[in-house]
Amino acid sequence: MTAPVLHARGITKSFGPRAVLKGIDLDAHRGDVVSILGGSGSGKSTFLRCLNLLEMPDAGTIEIAGIRAPLTHDRHGRARIDNPRALGVLRSKTAMVFQSFNLWSHMTVLDNIVAAPVHVHGLARAAAIERAHALLEKVGMTGFATHWPAQLSGGQQQRVAIARALATDPDLMLFDEPTSALDPERVREVLDLMRALADEGRTMLIVTHEMAFARDVSSTIVHVRDGVIESMGPPGVMFGADATAVFRGFLSA
Ligand code: ADP
Ligand code: MG
Repeated sequence: MTAPVLHARGITKSFGPRAVLKGIDLDAHRGDVVSILGGSGSGKSTFLRCLNLLEMPDAGTIEIAGIRAPLTHDRHGRARIDNPRALGVLRSKTAMVFQSFNLWSHMTVLDNIVAAPVHVHGLARAAAIERAHALLEKVGMTGFATHWPAQLSGGQQQRVAIARALATDPDLMLFDEPTSALDPERVREVLDLMRALADEGRTMLIVTHEMAFARDVSSTIVHVRDGVIESMGPPGVMFGADATAVFRGFLSA
């Protein structure tokens, strides 16, 4: 078996006295689509944010595409980055898509997409622009290169955000409730795009409340509850009669 794209072990995180992650272990292999389901406040966003060190885990190890997260802890247990260059490399292996799109509002659609390839990856601007146009076509946004984010619907902004995420050809894509801020009639266009990425073999971690989508597209369903993985397995098991009573209770709530 090849090395996993994501290998996370023993991830813990507290905010003050509140233990939010209590030891999460998760692997994803190339092409896996892992959907993370769970109630509000269970730690799903914190876990995603720990993976690219947007949030510093209190303990645990993370490897993404063979890069070990450059994290050490001093004798008081405080986390710190021991190698800023390795942090940049680790982050360049991932791309995150947020609930609130987070496009840069002062940049055109095109500049949103070319910024990271040019400034982080050192790609020539002409090549980055050519690639950006191909990505706009892929996400169904041909002709919007010179628009500003504020001129787009939520669904259009999210498709641009996905094009931006793809621009650096990440090994691992992290989606945090990508459709939760969208009008119901716009949800489908984003889910269809994500399904196409899954079909292409992209490795994806998706926090979502779209149960039918998760069941359909995922290789693995993970139920996070109160900072731990309560249960996980293939959709056929997790949505079948052998799922845990706790997960079945969550689904019917
Ligand atoms: P989820 O995404 O599953 O809804 P989160 O990971 O966002 O949950 O949050 C889990 C818990 O951690 C919540 O109780 C939230 O209030 C708390 N939390 C998240 N981020 C912070 C922070 N930066 N400071 C303090 N508490 C936080
Ligand atoms: Mg969240």
